[in-house]
Amino acid sequence: MTAEGHLIFAIACGIFSKKAEITLKLANGDWWHIIPGVLLTALLPDIDHPQSLLGQRCRWISIPIFYIFGHRKFTHSLLAIFSGIIFFRLLHFPYNWFFPSDTLHAILIGYLSHLLADMLTPNGISLFWPCRWRFCLPLLQSQKNNQLEKIFCVFLVVLIYLCPVKHLILIKSYFQHIKNIMF
Ligand SMILES: [Zn+2]
Repeated sequence: MTAEGHLIFAIACGIFSKKAEITLKLANGDWWHIIPGVLLTALLPDIDHPQSLLGQRCRWISIPIFYIFGHRKFTHSLLAIFSGIIFFRLLHFPYNWFFPSDTLHAILIGYLSHLLADMLTPNGISLFWPCRWRFCLPLLQSQKNNQLEKIFCVFLVVLIYLCPVKHLILIKSYFQHIKNIMF
């Protein structure tokens, strides 16, 4: 997926996560914190490719990651997310030392949105890296038809934005069920 596609898809996921009340912080969060938050990390996983938008600007980090792990491996896995959370916890920063807590939750959603979007392409991702299983649901078939991809993402933004909250009640209860199991 292109960088533009990822950014638009992240906005769709940000709107969805607030409307579906995936977390309490997001449900009560400020749109001006959530949208910038999701955009902040929407392109971050592609730091593993020197030709990506972010990789071209940070070649000193993208080249080593590319040669050590490869593209769509470590940075596109749940391990990267858990490693990041543990790393920042070990630093013992106060929970909202720099960003408001709703932005922190949005940052996580932005990162996850990238993984989800890449799963919609034929190459998929190694979600459970170092396990080699590739996860993909190739809805976006053509890698060259960027226009179609952008239209799909914009359509998703409009659809989620216009969808009444009451229609998301099933999704809300699903996430509540998951939270009850986990905590
Ligand atoms: Zn990617």
